[in-house]
Amino acid sequence: MVGRQPNFLFGVLIVLTSTSSLLSTAQEILYNAIVYTVDERFPEADSIAIDEAGFIVGVGAFANLSDRFPTYQLTDLRGQLVLPGFQDAHLHAVEAGINSQLCYVGSEVTGEDSSVIEDIPLYFDEPDCADFGLFGGQGWVMGAGVDLAAIMEELKANETARYPITVLDESFPDTPVVILDQYGHGALANTAAMVAVGYDNGVDPRGGQILKDANGTLLGIVTENAQQKLREAAFPPTDDNKELAYKSLLSALDTLKKNGVTTVSDAGGFWHQAQTESWERAEEEGYLTVRASNSLYVYPDEGLGTQLPSLIQRFSNDPDKLVRFNQAKVYVDGILSLATARLYEEYEFDPFQEYRTPLSSSDAEWTGFEYFGDNVTLNFMSQSLANAGFQLHYHVTGDAAAGLALSAIKSVQSNPEIEPHRLTHCYLIAEKDRPLFAELGVVADFQLAPSSVSEEYQQSMQDFLGNDRADTLLPAVEMYEAGATVTLSSDWDADELSPLLKMQTVLSRPTGRSFASLEEVIPMLTLNPAKLLQHDDKTGSITIGKYADLAVIDKDIFNLPVNEIATAEITRTYLQGKLIYNVKGGVGSPTTGLSSNGGSTTATITEGEAEVDMEEVEVEETDTEIDTGLNENVTVGKTDPTSGATTAETAASSSTQSTVSGANRRWASCFSILSFSIWLTL
Ligand SMILES: [Zn+2]
Repeated sequence: MVGRQPNFLFGVLIVLTSTSSLLSTAQEILYNAIVYTVDERFPEADSIAIDEAGFIVGVGAFANLSDRFPTYQLTDLRGQLVLPGFQDAHLHAVEAGINSQLCYVGSEVTGEDSSVIEDIPLYFDEPDCADFGLFGGQGWVMGAGVDLAAIMEELKANETARYPITVLDESFPDTPVVILDQYGHGALANTAAMVAVGYDNGVDPRGGQILKDANGTLLGIVTENAQQKLREAAFPPTDDNKELAYKSLLSALDTLKKNGVTTVSDAGGFWHQAQTESWERAEEEGYLTVRASNSLYVYPDEGLGTQLPSLIQRFSNDPDKLVRFNQAKVYVDGILSLATARLYEEYEFDPFQEYRTPLSSSDAEWTGFEYFGDNVTLNFMSQSLANAGFQLHYHVTGDAAAGLALSAIKSVQSNPEIEPHRLTHCYLIAEKDRPLFAELGVVADFQLAPSSVSEEYQQSMQDFLGNDRADTLLPAVEMYEAGATVTLSSDWDADELSPLLKMQTVLSRPTGRSFASLEEVIPMLTLNPAKLLQHDDKTGSITIGKYADLAVIDKDIFNLPVNEIATAEITRTYLQGKLIYNVKGGVGSPTTGLSSNGGSTTATITEGEAEVDMEEVEVEETDTEIDTGLNENVTVGKTDPTSGATTAETAASSSTQSTVSGANRRWASCFSILSFSIWLTL
């Protein structure tokens, strides 16, 4: 996760569609459509025939299909566009819901004399925060959304500014408080919280940093993995919290189907917090409306010897199930906005410079941060995880981080069963590393949100990186031209979810190079992620023999001006032939043919009181003449994932050796082996 926008998913009545009977659906022909198949052999058609098991059995002209399948019920799509269901290879479904429940603590400047730091406690006076600021009876107060860069700016600009820890202690002298940042890479904490997790001595935990001044006084700011311990202490996996996480996921699923998303990869995977249980429960109870090939987080502060058995225990890869946990999420570095992205060359500007513990005593130039400290550890860990059957999912944002991850993949024995591996975020990729993606078969996964390709963001990055490097941010087109398999994911809820908005954005970037056509881009949201998630034998294109995972769009986006693509709307979403979403008034009810009762059920879940920024939308099937075995009479809370963009991004790390001189290289090598053996034995 590299950014976060405030959003509010809860507070509405949600009635969910059960998928407990995926193998039972209507035999159906969708006709009078513009079908864009993403199958080069038959790129376009007007009709799709779907059998009772949800497989596509015909794609082509209506006259032909109706002859071949005379008993199938017919659904008139009235000229709408049909694409393969969207596949989002990197998002945070469980966290999206949980974050929305926390007290929102922004960093907006409200007036000339206002102070970002001094205003923090005021957010907790808001009625919403008073309702759910305290969690699970654990006695912690949690917030989310704070902008650490804005806080650092104030500390630098105003020498009388107080540290966040001082301000928080004044309002919360005894109650531990943690406020997660908007990027998912840092947090604020008061003294009680620091004491509770043992951070009050200021010693950096592995994979994280506790910021302090030259006197050793804590600022109340932690970065990267240091936030995990605080998060776990504040939100332990109690029964109540697990229930909240589950409802968070159900709420997220509701948003996904409204966006035509039928496959995801959840990149959170914080199994210490029992996030795996939410997914498995959703499938068991029949409410899972996406295929999910998810990741398990590899904790940098927990030795491999300790956590590998737990990771293996949670590994799952059953092709007959919707949910799998078959990827390992490995953070190589942090993010550019916190200057924790690992770079080949030093930062031009590091807002935290005087408050960090350098990575080594010889580290005069700040080139960013590495979660695992050295490439020996990273390589060994990658090999161990791959040997255990995990597909590798690296978080990289700086160019050196990308180089490190590529080296680690190179060190892993090739195994087609678990490939391709991938690098996600990829804000900077050095020229020399670009061809390696194609050579090693590594997928380059980008999130090109409007906020991350904006001129404003690029200007802010010029401060950190200088103009030359800032000009090369997010080289998705360049990687495509270099022969890499490129996927476009969302990083929701850090960034916007909407695949239609993503298409519009990558075709009209205000900074960097734009893709040339929808024909180039659509596979990056469908077939390419299907390949990445090892589903392309069954999904990713509208092809006979694959599942009918489909997104129906009200406008033909091929004939819209680029800047209007995001005005199109998803009207229907099918998962394995089942209609899991149908916007009210949407066209296309079955008119003739056989009926089939799929035995679906409904559930009503009433969420908490926080009715914030919500709009209720009625969603229902328009025709019940034929029972398709689906529940369409649903009321869902509408969130707008396309609004309120916040800046976000990250950068990467890479070969440590390439950044140190000869003497330092030997020292770094000793350090690597030492820290590697410590980590193994933890
Ligand atoms: Zn992410």
